[in-house]
Amino acid sequence: MSNPTKIWRDGRLVNWDEATIHVMSHVVHYGSSVFEGVRCYDTPTGPAIFRAREHMRRLRDSARIYRIELPHSADDLVQGMIDTIVGNDLRGCYLRPVVIRAGEQMGVLGTGAPVETFIIAKVWDTYLGAEAFESGCDVCVSSWRRAAPDTFPTMAKAGGNYMNSQLSKMEAKQNGYSEGIMLDSFGFVAEGSGENLFLVRDGVLYTAPVGSAILNGITRDSVMRIARDQGIEVREQQLPREFLYIADEAFFCGTAAELTPIRSIDRIPVGSGRPGPVTKGIQREYMGIAKGEIPDRHGWLTPVPVPASV
Ligand code: PMP
Repeated sequence: MSNPTKIWRDGRLVNWDEATIHVMSHVVHYGSSVFEGVRCYDTPTGPAIFRAREHMRRLRDSARIYRIELPHSADDLVQGMIDTIVGNDLRGCYLRPVVIRAGEQMGVLGTGAPVETFIIAKVWDTYLGAEAFESGCDVCVSSWRRAAPDTFPTMAKAGGNYMNSQLSKMEAKQNGYSEGIMLDSFGFVAEGSGENLFLVRDGVLYTAPVGSAILNGITRDSVMRIARDQGIEVREQQLPREFLYIADEAFFCGTAAELTPIRSIDRIPVGSGRPGPVTKGIQREYMGIAKGEIPDRHGWLTPVPVPASV
């Protein structure tokens, strides 16, 4: 498996170096893009994309929120991801479909600008690192808040939203933490800069509701389904900041971060300071299903047909 050399561009694979845009593109000036992060796992029966359709549905939802006319159906985009994997001879990889307002038009109104869609594949290990995946990461509460509900729509996975995420992530790293937890504009717990957050107390799993300025994460949904399958009660509710400090367990989840335990928050150890049984149990199940080692009882995997000669 070598580095990817092809990028899907509106229905056909082009060479990596040809997937360029003009500096006048609307997206460069005004942040007008929507995108996805998707993983393909190298399972024993071949590569498989995790929750491909749900990701492409969210991409279309994000575009709709911003009045971006996306000419590709969810099915075409799923096929685009498959073609990108096969065309690059990849197995396990991270996929980044991105839709941009392009063109050379000055001015904030983007509706006349041409829309371009790309699908990029990269080989990418777990986002917060292998050590954090096993033992947990040390995080802080960010001084940057998530945007108020009537400012930036957080249900859209839009490029511009990630300026806010960058502020939080940079602050956290600068201060020696691996990630920042952001509060919403009312002061309730929201999420990490690129992950959703779960807390455990007395065996119950808690997470912020969609109305708390979070991205409606697909891993978050998978975690809630796995937890319920395991007989764990799940509550989506507003969480005051202090809940972070009295949780027995805490973890981040996301396509890139997968399921990463949190070891401390603002230097206060989470529970015993080691990943707890609920976190470990859900992490094992999630990774097992994604990697094809546990039966895919929810139909989350889309197989990628690999040519027989590979
Ligand atoms: N929140 C934010 C801000 C994110 O960027 C991500 C990653 N897409 C998530 C949550 C997790 O979403 P998902 O599980 O769908 O990857």
